[in-house]
Amino acid sequence: MRVFCASVATETNTFSPLRTDFADFAQSFYAPPGEHPETPTLCSAVFPALRKRANAGEVELIEGTATWAEPGGLVNARTWDRLREEVLDQLRAALPVEAVVLGLHGAMIADGCVDCEGTLLEAVRDIVGPAVTIGVTFDPHSHLSDKRVKNADIITVFKEFPHTDFVETGEACVDLTLRAARGEIIPQISVFDVRMMDVLPTSRHPMRGFVDKMMALEADGSALSISTIHGFMAGDSPDLGAKIIVISNGDKPAGTQLARELGLELFSFRGTTKPEFLTVEDALTSATSASTGPVIIADVWDNPGGGVAGDSTILLQAALDTNVANMALGTIWDPMAVRLCHAAGEGAEFDLRFGGKTSAHAGAPIDATVTVLKVATDAVQSFGDSIVPLGDCAVIDVNGINVVLNSNRSQTFSPDLFTNLGIDIAAKQVVAVKSTNHFHGAFAPVAADILYAAVNGPYPNDPTTTPYTRLTRPLWPIVEAPHEEALA
Ligand SMILES: [Zn+2]
Repeated sequence: MRVFCASVATETNTFSPLRTDFADFAQSFYAPPGEHPETPTLCSAVFPALRKRANAGEVELIEGTATWAEPGGLVNARTWDRLREEVLDQLRAALPVEAVVLGLHGAMIADGCVDCEGTLLEAVRDIVGPAVTIGVTFDPHSHLSDKRVKNADIITVFKEFPHTDFVETGEACVDLTLRAARGEIIPQISVFDVRMMDVLPTSRHPMRGFVDKMMALEADGSALSISTIHGFMAGDSPDLGAKIIVISNGDKPAGTQLARELGLELFSFRGTTKPEFLTVEDALTSATSASTGPVIIADVWDNPGGGVAGDSTILLQAALDTNVANMALGTIWDPMAVRLCHAAGEGAEFDLRFGGKTSAHAGAPIDATVTVLKVATDAVQSFGDSIVPLGDCAVIDVNGINVVLNSNRSQTFSPDLFTNLGIDIAAKQVVAVKSTNHFHGAFAPVAADILYAAVNGPYPNDPTTTPYTRLTRPLWPIVEAPHEEALA
């Protein structure tokens, strides 16, 4: 069986001051055909999953491009045109194929194209025709359009947030797509629109139980696959919000019924799923007065993983104002300051302006006399099996606080972001990270406590006040009873 695969992925915060260019894909991850590494990336886990099948002689794999840009602002039109046509040309050259597997994110919005993934899937369907099986993986922080559902046969989505199951999601997509292509199953996709936009971490109640239930229903054969789209609140999409996907084996009414039951259960969780979010002052007070460290403080909204720049100085300035010592913070995105630190060299003490450059809402730049503790070229951190580039980095000491400055925007995934740069976080009282939830899996085993600080900044974190222009469906929390309103 000939199978084509490709991966084009990013998450677009349409309210971000950033813009996304091809250079952002090239800098984060760009692998031409055949050059995908052995390790998966978040959205390209279908590549190693398919290679395993190819090595076992089960399929003949034709690889296309795999690329990912760190979440950012609107993708410019020429970059979207280039990446889309590159993959479609590769597919045309690969014909005939019996299956196509795409690793997508699902929240990519380009200048002139609100539904990039739906547009790509539709174009793929046009090229291969109705008989070829198309499988796709999405991140749950995405927008599920009718166009995507209409043109895909298999859709699998990371169930976990943090997305610790991206490898399993890729494997499941490949498995179901190949079984469907061989005629062993007849996948039927049912979708229920939950009409809700909330933050849904699965490491805690009630979402933990909900994910366990989805997996149990898959295991007992109630459905071939069950997924929850969480939605991505920083993307101005007509399909904003949570949706349930059930893939049944030839029994669409049963799938539709199950999707509805699960969707209404998810809707009943609205407003109860997030951990407690503290003010930055309360988080710092609590962390510094804890009997043991390290206490992790997540700066939940200055999360580059949500498409903001990640150069907010608000939390750091609050720590400096209250003389917090024995603290580490990672990261502040500032390539210019990194360059100055590299030029100054390790051990240098000099006056540096850093951070707070890309948005009026992310605090002012900090001016301080700093000591350069460490400089590194092409630093990395891990996220599960995947290696995440940070670009050239510098660690500076500012009044007893170790701050990691980076050149490639990235959220904080793992303690090795710090340890790779010589910072022993076990010896710190306070460790501040820029991440909403993905940090949790790797930091929980080494943390004395984990606190979440809601620092209002450039991220649109309240749907009731975010100026969406494309939303026409009733959606909680903008509307109190969206299901009744939809029926009216
Ligand atoms: Zn996500």
